[in-house]
Amino acid sequence: MNDKNIHKHDVLVVGGGLAGLRSALAACDKGADTAVVSKVYPLRSHSVAAQGGINAALGNSPGSKNDTWKDHAFDTIKGSVYLADQDAVEILCREAPKAVVELEHWGTVFSRDEKGKLAQRPFGGAGVPRTCYAADRTGHNLMNTLFEQATSRGIKFYNEYFVTSLVVDQDRCCGCIAIDIITGDLHAFASNSLIMATGGHGKIYNRSTNSLINTADGQAMAYRCGAALKDMEFVQFHPTTLYGSNILITEGARGEGAYLINSEGERFMSKYAPKAKELAPRDIVARSIVKEIEAGRGFEDQYVHLDLRHLGAEKINERLPGIRQIARDFADLDPAEDPIPVQPGQHYSMGGIDVDIDGKTDLAGLYGVGECACVSVHGANRLGGNSLLETLVYGKIVGENACKGAKKISNINVVKDAMDRERVKLKGFLSGEGEDFATLMLELRKTMFDKFGIFRDEDNMQEGLSNLYDLKDRFEHIGIKDKGKIFNQSLLRILELGYMLDVAETVAVSAIKRKESRGSHYRTDFPDHNDDQFLKHTIIKKEEGKSPSIYFSPVKFGLFPVKEDGY
Ligand SMILES: Cc1cc2nc3c(=O)[nH]c(=O)nc-3n(C[C@H](O)[C@H](O)[C@H](O)COP(=O)(O)OP(=O)(O)OC[C@H]3O[C@@H](n4cnc5c(N)ncnc54)[C@H](O)[C@@H]3O)c2cc1C
Repeated sequence: MNDKNIHKHDVLVVGGGLAGLRSALAACDKGADTAVVSKVYPLRSHSVAAQGGINAALGNSPGSKNDTWKDHAFDTIKGSVYLADQDAVEILCREAPKAVVELEHWGTVFSRDEKGKLAQRPFGGAGVPRTCYAADRTGHNLMNTLFEQATSRGIKFYNEYFVTSLVVDQDRCCGCIAIDIITGDLHAFASNSLIMATGGHGKIYNRSTNSLINTADGQAMAYRCGAALKDMEFVQFHPTTLYGSNILITEGARGEGAYLINSEGERFMSKYAPKAKELAPRDIVARSIVKEIEAGRGFEDQYVHLDLRHLGAEKINERLPGIRQIARDFADLDPAEDPIPVQPGQHYSMGGIDVDIDGKTDLAGLYGVGECACVSVHGANRLGGNSLLETLVYGKIVGENACKGAKKISNINVVKDAMDRERVKLKGFLSGEGEDFATLMLELRKTMFDKFGIFRDEDNMQEGLSNLYDLKDRFEHIGIKDKGKIFNQSLLRILELGYMLDVAETVAVSAIKRKESRGSHYRTDFPDHNDDQFLKHTIIKKEEGKSPSIYFSPVKFGLFPVKEDGY
């Protein structure tokens, strides 16, 4: 064993996206020796793809002069169908203006209005224009700013290191094991605080807007070590993904005034959400599109049109240049002249590792933040623009909290031993001669989309769950053609598939357990909310050798009492 492969840091952040970078900066600013481990070069993290913007009640737009954090909180809680915890939402919305201005001061090039203030556009489910943006490349701008800040502070980066498992000793997370992807060598990391910031689990579905790397790694690693997952049944389907490739067409397009049109030329959203129309929350718009297609008013039974033509080329170029480019490159059309074919696709994971407002999980030493975690500020449906905000606001909070008591470095021998065990496990995978992992991966994604998609019911979900159990059995005999050590992408895909299968099971079991409809979880056999029984969080935990245990925990209420109010 080589000592070069053993590392120790006060705070170890797994994930180099916005949540990981913001929490690393906060930990470093508090004086902790901080490192970030990322399976891709940080600037390739999924956050870089975020398009439409980030919410903060700045009141800059003529339509939002009197906007306050309370209005923002109300919209967020209403959008969440009252499942979000109101203490967590209060923090998110109160801190939002500070977080956005901080990024602006650090160098993010936000779009501005004619008076030179940060411009704000309307977004779904928001009462007023509240979404700040950098054209339609907001994530790219924020990521470059944070990465520059992190490198200038000398934070240590382990780029293209793939974390395979956490190390737990005496009921405490004390580090992790990772593969250096380029050499194939294993490395052991000892830390007293480990922050999981590994992003969402969108890739358990097909037709997803997510990057290939969003494969549930952090959620599965935490779950396997006994940490609870929360509200896993809530998966967001974005209404407008490009037909064919499912690349996102940002809600910013509808925010700028684009219409949804069916094959009869009708602007159909006025039937489903008479006030908000195209800017109703995503769950409502996604279901409306599917209903139109199923009623025979789609195109080719697959998609509807998103029409930007009336905005004109000049506005499209200024506000939505990335969308024009995507439409040209991937659909061979110019949105200034042709409508864009769109259909709903998987987009965001509301559920994740169960954390409190300090980012603590129920495993000591382990924290969670960003899309892999559930604090919960999105409840049953996230409003667009609130996720980037969550990465910044909670990134700072969690990074600071993780420093407290993080100086006492865990026993190095424990992580060394764990690395030896991991080596044996990985050798096992490399010797496999069975079924190809790609077949299982495609079947998993199809099962999830078909059985746990936009519309759900008991029979279909039970069938889906038994498909998942069959896939898990087959995974035990998985084969691998590349037996090499260096840059073995097949091995990484197999590890990801294992994570995805575990997490898909938690989505399935949680969805079956919730016998009501709420936000993104729509059951045709239980089409209404049932607050008495189900206005609660679903908590799921792994049980060795048997089905996971699942129970409900109370939602935290505050300023906003539950009320039925349409869009
Ligand atoms: C196309 C698209 C557009 C979006 N636009 C918006 C928007 O405009 N506004 C908004 O609010 N939200 C938007 N969202 C949502 C938002 O972008 C994400 O929720 C957010 O960026 C997630 O950030 P994160 O830091 O939690 O995770 P990510 O950015 O996904 O980062 C995850 C990190 O974890 C690392 N990682 C994962 N597994 C491992 C492992 N095993 N070992 C080591 N490292 C690992 C990865 O390398 C990566 O660095 C959008 C989402 C999509 C799909």
